[in-house]
Amino acid sequence: MNTCERSNRLNAYHDGELSPPEAVELERHVRGCPACAAELDGLRRLTHALASEAEPELPASALRRFHRAVDRVARNGIVRFAETFAALAATIMLVCVLNLAHGSPARQATMPVWEAAAVSESAGESGSPSAEDLVASWISQDLSRENGHD
Ligand SMILES: [Zn+2]
Repeated sequence: MNTCERSNRLNAYHDGELSPPEAVELERHVRGCPACAAELDGLRRLTHALASEAEPELPASALRRFHRAVDRVARNGIVRFAETFAALAATIMLVCVLNLAHGSPARQATMPVWEAAAVSESAGESGSPSAEDLVASWISQDLSRENGHD
């Protein structure tokens, strides 16, 4: 234990926090005080040991597992988002088509001419599939194709 009254300035000196005149004065003191010289030497050796400590390396196999796990999480997140987005888009499209096909007379009166013609044509023809049937079959084909991949 260093009992020298100047030893409380050693840490500040070691960290470069003293003004130049204070540093010069402490250096002069350390040259004549074995206790402070020993403590300053200890501080320097500790700093050197900490600075030269190598960072621990991760084994290559662990690094590869880590990268695969990160890739898997990223890929699953994107696929799940795309599936949700596709289902939402299909639902919105189905609702729009149903609304278009079963629009009220008041609604049909406000339709542009081309839209009213398209609705009445697809609804009036017998023997050909309606717009709802077409959309339903597109969605079911699309979903069965998606399920076939997994
Ligand atoms: Zn001293």
